[in-house]
Amino acid sequence: MGTVETVLIARRTGFCYGVREAIDYAKLAAADGKSTHTLGQVVHNEGVIEELQAQGIRTVDSLDDVDRGAAIVIRAHGVTPEVMARAADKGLEVIDGTCTWVIQEQKELARLVDEDYTIVLLGTPNHPEVVGLLGFAPDAILVDEEGDWERIPRRKRMALISQSTQPPWKFEKLAAYLVSHCHELKIVNTVCPVTIRRQQDTMDLADSVDLMVVVGGRNSANTKELTRLCSIAGRPVTQIENAADLTDAAVFGEARIVGVTGGTSTPIEDLEGVARRVYELAGTDGLRSRAAELARAAVTAVADPAYRSTSIGRLRTATASHPPISGAA
Ligand code: SF4
Repeated sequence: MGTVETVLIARRTGFCYGVREAIDYAKLAAADGKSTHTLGQVVHNEGVIEELQAQGIRTVDSLDDVDRGAAIVIRAHGVTPEVMARAADKGLEVIDGTCTWVIQEQKELARLVDEDYTIVLLGTPNHPEVVGLLGFAPDAILVDEEGDWERIPRRKRMALISQSTQPPWKFEKLAAYLVSHCHELKIVNTVCPVTIRRQQDTMDLADSVDLMVVVGGRNSANTKELTRLCSIAGRPVTQIENAADLTDAAVFGEARIVGVTGGTSTPIEDLEGVARRVYELAGTDGLRSRAAELARAAVTAVADPAYRSTSIGRLRTATASHPPISGAA
């Protein structure tokens, strides 16, 4: 017999606005009859990729796989200036879905290069956002875990900047470390506020439940950080990719209240699916048969904005005065 009486979902979950808008740009382009591609997976979520494929949107790994005149969507992570230029040279219609926050990072990096700082970039090597950022500052010193930091040289003027989804505590720790490495240290805090809010909401939820379920890609850094934070809060936690990963009620032990949260690339529909699965698998007798209804209530109660995986209505409005989709053919 199951013990779970309540499943709570963290506030402000679902896609972050950057991911949501890049996906919407692709859908709008396809709906307009364009031959539409995304450069790399717009989000690492099989369900979303299948949905896009069903709308005729193809994922490609290289611009060489796109025919002249076709549309190519740049995902929220952004790309290097060279990739943008090559796409234009090839006669592709570039639909720039780079998140506005990432665009800000790119501009800040270019400014630091102009100002001749020795730049330290906190980021995960080979992450697409980081690859794109390095295109704006090829000489930046990229560091990730603390073991890397020893190779940072001492320079007179240094600047610190971050990949958007790095944990704030790590950024602050590196800033403190760099103080003794230079005469002048410029700190440009580009940790994304969405990431910070999500971590806070997850910690708040972890405080009031018996067990946490974190939903997101196995390799997603921001998802792993949520799992780490739940552990720090002293809460038992399990990380999964989607509801299908929940097969054993034993995971829930004697838990009565279960919390569910997700990374910035996890659609809110997946969180609802997980809540439903928890009720079905480990809910008390009276609740299992009402799993779908209870899961819907859980997600609509907290999602902000309420149950939304698209901005398409808003984008269509925006198109009239400030076209969000830029052609670069
Ligand atoms: S996590 Fe932040 S920076 Fe990254 S895509 Fe989402 S909103 Fe943009």
